[in-house]
Amino acid sequence: MDRKTALITGAGQGIGEAIALRLAKDGFNIAVNDLRDAPNVAEKCRAFGVTAECFPADVSDYAACETMVKSIKEKFGSIDVLVNNAGITRDGLAVRMKEEDYDLVIRVNQKSVFNMMKLVGAIMMKQKSGRIISVSSVAGVHGNAGQLNYSASKAAIVGMTKTMSKELGSRGITVNAIAPGFIQTPMTDALTDEQKAMILNLIAMKRYGQVEEIAGVVSFLSGSDSSYVTGQTIEISGGLTI
Ligand code: NAP
Repeated sequence: MDRKTALITGAGQGIGEAIALRLAKDGFNIAVNDLRDAPNVAEKCRAFGVTAECFPADVSDYAACETMVKSIKEKFGSIDVLVNNAGITRDGLAVRMKEEDYDLVIRVNQKSVFNMMKLVGAIMMKQKSGRIISVSSVAGVHGNAGQLNYSASKAAIVGMTKTMSKELGSRGITVNAIAPGFIQTPMTDALTDEQKAMILNLIAMKRYGQVEEIAGVVSFLSGSDSSYVTGQTIEISGGLTI
């Protein structure tokens, strides 16, 4: 059976892992990227009857991305869905933020999206089909105190998504972003109880999001039902910012 291939960055845990599992359930072969090997995620994907393999690489490093993308293309033959999910935080008020923490977050969250959009975009242009979905954040759309570096990197993704949708649209490629609110993952587990309680109070649905609720929207953006949706940033926040 001819299966399409989805590549998910930062898929070793959290939202990325949930996206990998959901797209495996949808019938995609899965390329699991993370900084470290994540054989448990690939194994869980294979339980859905698809092929899944790990491709560890630092997506902020262009040369590493080039090698990884080449290996995935050789192994799977095509890359039909790219999910730019890898991301980090180094929070702190702007006036106290270290320059290296600003630079690191921009490199991992934003430059990685350039690396992957450029390399996989070229493959999709030849295929004349493809879906690119990047994980932004409500902090990128609305700002968030203590996250100048993070919100800058995530706002950039909104603009990059619009630009790439214009560059690739005529080749049948859609490019969208999602902007999660507060989703329960190892990243948000690191917040203090006080911070968590404050955020909960602001959410219309009065609960945190689950990773599967993000993966469901990525599944929609990867499938045929979203064929005329491009250049958009879809907020998934339980009504955090309304
Ligand atoms: P997470 O649990 O920390 O997972 C992120 C994954 O990305 C980790 O496995 C991490 O590996 C990997 N990673 C980090 N740097 C990488 C690099 N340079 N190259 C390859 N992989 C790398 O985070 P999450 O909560 O699932 O977040 C996933 C995405 O959603 C991020 O882009 C985040 O900004 C975004 N987001 C999350 C929330 C939320 O509430 N959780 C809200 C809005 C947006 P290591 O563990 O080895 O570092």
